[in-house]
Amino acid sequence: MIPFKPKKKFGQNFLINKNLSAKIASFIDVKNCDSLIEIGPGLGSLTKEIINIDIAEKKFIEIDGDCVDYLQKSISEINGNIINEDFLKIDLNSFKSPMVIVGNFPYNISNQILFKIYENRNIIQSMVGMFQFEVAERICSPKGSKKYGVLSVLIQAYFNVEMKIKIRPNNFYPAPKIDSAVIKIVKYRDHLNCNEKLFKEVVKTTFNLRRKKIRNSLKTLNYSQIKFDNPIFDKRPEELGVLEFINLTNLLNNENI
Ligand code: SAH
Repeated sequence: MIPFKPKKKFGQNFLINKNLSAKIASFIDVKNCDSLIEIGPGLGSLTKEIINIDIAEKKFIEIDGDCVDYLQKSISEINGNIINEDFLKIDLNSFKSPMVIVGNFPYNISNQILFKIYENRNIIQSMVGMFQFEVAERICSPKGSKKYGVLSVLIQAYFNVEMKIKIRPNNFYPAPKIDSAVIKIVKYRDHLNCNEKLFKEVVKTTFNLRRKKIRNSLKTLNYSQIKFDNPIFDKRPEELGVLEFINLTNLLNNENI
């Protein structure tokens, strides 16, 4: 059934439950969008469900030449729209936008995919994607949770996040050792009311020392003249929601002028 030996280095776990592919496809909403990008179509389990979606541009980005050959033979409509490249190296501005990103992603590059979505948020409207369960949970975690971290804040600052379904290993070939989950993220704003570069820096810097009060972590940035007497500096990063990080960013920015 599988035309070649799955490649670990490309994180290949092919979805073999057709009902699930159809269900994942049903979460995709392309309204008001001009391109649909699938990352890692593999042997086409999700691709078959989305190939006929009506949208100006559809592109399928697959790093593995064996998958590309197989897809070209088995899904005729894909011809001309499959790109044999590394998603992480592709300039997303070369596609039409707003854009929807979908895929059962290669788990070895989950974080890099999420950072790329964050960096390209100005052109990305939504994403429906499968991750290892633990990463999916992290993205959807609210403040106060142990799983809450840098990517939770950066994604939730711009996107509504929703855990859709949990998927057991036996739905894949080869079966991964861990559970997976599909999440959907939908952008609700393009900009924050603060210096967005500094926001990212503050989030990253404070979570670097997750257990420490943010006062201590922020001292490593160059804000020597700040008194740090606001009670917010006594908190730990996981206690701060998006809004509190925005307020914190403004506090640092204003004091520094
Ligand atoms: N979507 C398919 C395959 C999932 S496995 C399915 O559900 O069955 C992950 C897929 O991503 C594989 O086909 C793998 O070759 C591809 N892949 C891995 N790294 C990639 C990268 N950097 N860019 C594009 N595709 C990649």
